[in-house]
Amino acid sequence: MGNRARIILARRFFGGVVLVGAISCLAFLSFKAFALDTQTILPYLIAHSTSLTNYLAYKIENANPLNPYFYGGFLCLLIVERLMPAKKVQKMFSVGMLQDMAWFLVNKVPLTIVDFFNAVLLTSLYKEYLPFLTIDVTTWPQTYRVIMALLVGDFLGFFHHYLRHKVELFWYFHTIHHSQREMNPFADHRNHFLESMIAFMITFIPAAMFQLDTISTGYFIVFISWYTRFYHSNIRTNLGFLKHFLVTPQSHRIHHSIEERHMDKNFSTLFTVWDRLFGTLYENYDEYPDTGIAGYRFPLETSARGLSTLATYWAQTIYPFRLIRQRIGKVFYSERELAR
Ligand SMILES: [Zn+2]
Ligand SMILES: [Zn+2]
Repeated sequence: MGNRARIILARRFFGGVVLVGAISCLAFLSFKAFALDTQTILPYLIAHSTSLTNYLAYKIENANPLNPYFYGGFLCLLIVERLMPAKKVQKMFSVGMLQDMAWFLVNKVPLTIVDFFNAVLLTSLYKEYLPFLTIDVTTWPQTYRVIMALLVGDFLGFFHHYLRHKVELFWYFHTIHHSQREMNPFADHRNHFLESMIAFMITFIPAAMFQLDTISTGYFIVFISWYTRFYHSNIRTNLGFLKHFLVTPQSHRIHHSIEERHMDKNFSTLFTVWDRLFGTLYENYDEYPDTGIAGYRFPLETSARGLSTLATYWAQTIYPFRLIRQRIGKVFYSERELAR
């Protein structure tokens, strides 16, 4: 074996050890975080809600900034970014990440409140109009219920994501998520609140269909949300053979790519099977392109000093509404032109 081959092998081994360590660490921390939450906030929600809203309460609790384990998870991802960066020039505390932290913190409280009331409303609507969707799973083991709900939920997530790219109105809102030029563990929190609300409604359906209401489901959901933070990070890995089944930091970077040839590829949110079925999979697993949106007058963050992250948060939040107003304005303008 030549020297070069040995170095490549050693690098792969090192990468594998780091990733296995990081994913185990994330699993441990997210489980600990959830266990702590079940002792504090969740019993109240469980005592005052139905089985469906219990499940949704787990969903809300997947990122509790008051939980110390939550910060342990981020630290773990920052260390992996340092050891295996996709873009070496990117700073650990980049302006983009600080902006995403602002998105996370500002959206967290209102979204938690809105999601909770949304859950209560959806529960009654489901009971009134959609009870025929409910599958009698009382005889199924809990593991099967979770797997089926995961698959149905994952497909709905893929489909919702596909629509966000293909329907112009939805794309106005989704550009915010794609504006990130510095992928990082907080990047998945850069989402317009309207998008988050719709995504929340979508995950509600499989939960209701399969009557998921146990603590084990909560653990599962919390770990999945850490997995999405992992693949939004500035990490150079395609996870080896797992790349054929799972979304990875490499494949999701392609989805966020600024390059024309990567447009509208890799929509899946966990399993890549949906991209494979619908012909949207990008099969080169070794590209790590720059990310962002090209050709848009988007109010991109340029500094994280003082209150500028809050001002930018506001400018980015109202950006889709500005586009809608311009669009409506153009319709009226052309009609006036035509009437002359
Ligand atoms: Zn997208
Ligand atoms: Zn993303």
